[in-house]
Amino acid sequence: GAENKIITEKSLESILEKNRTYYIEGKVADYIPELGKMDAKAIAFSVVAKNGKIFNSGDVHKKFTMQSISKIIALMIAVNERGEADVFNKMGYFGTDRPFNHFSNLETTGKPLNPMMNAGAILTTSLILGNGEKPFLKILDMVRYITKNPTLDYSKSVYESEKSTGHRNRGMFYLMKNNGLISGNEDQLDNYFRQCSIELTAEDLAKIGYFFANQCVRFDGDATYKNKELARLVQSQMLIAGMYEFSGEYARTVGLPSKSGVGGGIAVSVPGKMGIGVFSPALDQHGNSSAGYHMILDFVKQYDLSLF
Ligand code: GLN
Repeated sequence: GAENKIITEKSLESILEKNRTYYIEGKVADYIPELGKMDAKAIAFSVVAKNGKIFNSGDVHKKFTMQSISKIIALMIAVNERGEADVFNKMGYFGTDRPFNHFSNLETTGKPLNPMMNAGAILTTSLILGNGEKPFLKILDMVRYITKNPTLDYSKSVYESEKSTGHRNRGMFYLMKNNGLISGNEDQLDNYFRQCSIELTAEDLAKIGYFFANQCVRFDGDATYKNKELARLVQSQMLIAGMYEFSGEYARTVGLPSKSGVGGGIAVSVPGKMGIGVFSPALDQHGNSSAGYHMILDFVKQYDLSLF
């Protein structure tokens, strides 16, 4: 059957070529002015298969900012430090029919819906222990560890751009401070802007997908952070809210825990098996990579990877 088909760089290449023009249906994010400079035609597709074997196609060395994909790393660290009960006492496990930057029920129940939308993610980062930029440095270090890429860093220009235009995120931050969920100062919001500005490649995203798909074991087998329950938690949030208001339909068509970012990346976990990383900066109306989604869809169909 399809699940026994062998993955080759050639099969990735043909999926990429078939979906290359989907960028026309999307639009590069420009609400963060610096992101508007991205090349809409850039496209990359990477898979980390069983035993950490890497398959690449397209602009796999092209760097882009991870944006909301950083939220799963922040969640991992906050839960490791505080425990799941403490983190989820302050936010929900809810899915959503609202866009990623929606205030949702911050004005009613007072708490974010989940750690994948901006409100819950900003709160999650504020829950990571340490003053100043320490929480951000923990996130950066974890991304470097998972990708085994110690030179990864954040883009200062994207960070400055987010910081100077992110008034909606600032509004959420202060509403949560008003609600008693956040106790620190704006350094904590800066850490969120910085984590979103971490630059990496599609291959790095595939390694992140692989990590959560395999109980937080790295692609090279390093098991320093092995934690089956934490991987379950993170993947469950990816499944129900990782693609925001598109998550339900995505669960139907792709059927895998995935996390998108407005930089055009998507990281996918195929539980117990592999990680997929895609990049194409033009976004659909939900803020998810348009060509990226279509490449994932074709790959998942070809190899029969839906969980369902
Ligand atoms: N930095 C972006 C923001 O806060 C992240 C959003 C996203 O990738 N969906 O608006």
